[in-house]
Amino acid sequence: METRFFIVLPLAAALAVVARQPTQAAQMPAAGTSPVSMTLDVDASEAPMKILHAVVSMPARPGAMTLFYPKWIPGEHMASGPVWNLTGLHVFADGGELEWRRDLVEMNAFHLTVPARAKALSAKYDYVVPFNGGSFGSGASTNAKCAVINWYTVVLYPMGESPDSITVAATLKAPPGWKHGGSLDIASVKGDTIHYAETTLALLNDHPVLLGEHFRSIPLWPAASPQGEHVIDVVADSDWALQVPQARIDAYKRLVVEERGVFGGVGHYRKYHWLLTLSDNLGAFGVEHHECADDRVAENTFVDDGAEKRSSSLLSHEYFHSWNGKARRPGGLVNGGYERPMKDDLLWVYEGLTNYYGELLSARAGLISPQEWFDEIASDAMSVSNPGRAWRPLQDTADSSPFLYDAGGGWTGWRRGTDFYNEGTLIWLDADVTIRKLTNGQKTLDDFCAIFYGQDDNGNIWVRPYDADEVYQTLNKVAAYDWKGFFEKRLQSKSSDIPLGGVDNGGFRLVYTEAANIFTDPWVLDGSLNAYGSLGVHVTAEGVVDDAWPGLPAYAAGISNGMKLVAVNGRRFSVDELKRALAGSKDSKALLELIVDNAGYFTVVRVDYHGGLRYPHLERVAGVNDVLTTIAEPRR
Ligand SMILES: [Zn+2]
Repeated sequence: METRFFIVLPLAAALAVVARQPTQAAQMPAAGTSPVSMTLDVDASEAPMKILHAVVSMPARPGAMTLFYPKWIPGEHMASGPVWNLTGLHVFADGGELEWRRDLVEMNAFHLTVPARAKALSAKYDYVVPFNGGSFGSGASTNAKCAVINWYTVVLYPMGESPDSITVAATLKAPPGWKHGGSLDIASVKGDTIHYAETTLALLNDHPVLLGEHFRSIPLWPAASPQGEHVIDVVADSDWALQVPQARIDAYKRLVVEERGVFGGVGHYRKYHWLLTLSDNLGAFGVEHHECADDRVAENTFVDDGAEKRSSSLLSHEYFHSWNGKARRPGGLVNGGYERPMKDDLLWVYEGLTNYYGELLSARAGLISPQEWFDEIASDAMSVSNPGRAWRPLQDTADSSPFLYDAGGGWTGWRRGTDFYNEGTLIWLDADVTIRKLTNGQKTLDDFCAIFYGQDDNGNIWVRPYDADEVYQTLNKVAAYDWKGFFEKRLQSKSSDIPLGGVDNGGFRLVYTEAANIFTDPWVLDGSLNAYGSLGVHVTAEGVVDDAWPGLPAYAAGISNGMKLVAVNGRRFSVDELKRALAGSKDSKALLELIVDNAGYFTVVRVDYHGGLRYPHLERVAGVNDVLTTIAEPRR
């Protein structure tokens, strides 16, 4: 998955539950072996009201039975199954309603006592869709004009059963007249209700569905092409947002060819659909799946060149995950279900390598220029130049991701965020440049990807776990080197030095200039100011300092997380005013004077800063071979 400066708001309050009878803590039973057939009928006709209705039916198990709501969500790397939004629950069997009791430890488990005569069991419930709060699939997912239906938010299943051994026949009722997109096989459509072909629970949850009034399906490659079926399904808040320039469509066609080329032309899906949401109120992120991706960007993405470029790596990133993350998956993420914790220690491969290639492939496809790719790398470098790297090694940002994604509350630079994305880009660039140097340009990181991910071209979906040693051994097949030492040094470093070997040996150096870098802004522009390169802060349009880096000028002068800038050099705060003051600081001996509101107490803070506006860029170093431009060239 991917996101840039996606601010996560506090989660909704937990549901109040009336206790009826005490129960035991849920055990973690081994996955069952007997096949379970379920039906799941989801009514999304009230999606604009932000509520989904569902009924699930399954064979009854007389005696003690536990229903489970998916908790550990593949692709989200954490226990993000939004059970707090599960409401209106009623369970029926043998012609009557059953009492249920939530487990006191495993909150996603509901205990039942099923009558001996019962053959079938059904549960009826609602999923209330948040309008703020939550993240990824558990965040806002429906509005007046479109919806993303993630099945895992609307399903209950018998706890302990493997999602691979449960079959589900699902239906989905759309709001009147709305169209639908996705890669889930359809059996029939009757009116506004889509009947999907029976599949496993694991695959159902891996195939979200796009619904919308303003809908467009953009075919990139037909099923009969060498690439197979590739489609961008788009919903938007408006029809004007759907006007995608032909040049962009052509670039996305090239993206498919370029991206499959990295893996030797081998894919592990029957067809591939991007589910693209163009909306300013349904988040800005992507979540990967085997045969599709849930990608959400700004409404104006296709009518604004800057908006398109800022988020250009999203589609290539999530697509890359079909190989890196879905088919080949770190062993700690192959957990056999939604009930067992995920181990995220190898996200520096899963997300780091994907982040490198997502950005690179948007350049190879022509969505951005090589120069813009350099800017994106420079922005990645600035984002991980935080002071937290002095205490927290990159490995720990991966290990901690079950809570780091949603940590919130400021202090990102000192806590460190999910830096294995952007620092992963730098490290894998370093690996790519190193392979090219070791082999005199005969081999590249693409060769590693072709061996590691391009296996078994049967066009079928499979999952094969890997560990770090297999990564090192495969790299050694491409270019003999101490790859274990290479990665462990970078993963365990507590140095303030960021890993710029790929940039330096690639013929460039990281510099800061007054020229803006569009990749330092979020995908959906929110009027905020990224001033990490100058004052060491990020400031919202309203003046709230939502991240201040210890050791940098603003923090050193007394400005911390959560404080609000009220005035700049005696004038009411605005981001433009602050930018003007920063630009003027270069030629001024005066201190930058800020009035700061700290929970109702006002203070004047004087910042000794004279560096002007500072944005990161890569600058060519004469005399050193330009490897980066070579890397950015399209494969022929
Ligand atoms: Zn990702």
